[in-house]
Amino acid sequence: MAATPRQTKPCAHCGRPFADRKRWAGREQWDEVKYCSRGCRAAAARERRRA
Ligand SMILES: [Zn+2]
Repeated sequence: MAATPRQTKPCAHCGRPFADRKRWAGREQWDEVKYCSRGCRAAAARERRRA
């Protein structure tokens, strides 16, 4: 692997690993991104609200 490895981390909601995306590329948001998708983010927020 000569190319720069893309960062990946598990989604805080569904647990599936996801990779850095264009949306977050070049930004410093990657550290703040916890969910693989908007859906997971929304679902997690919903659960958190309920709890
Ligand atoms: Zn997810």
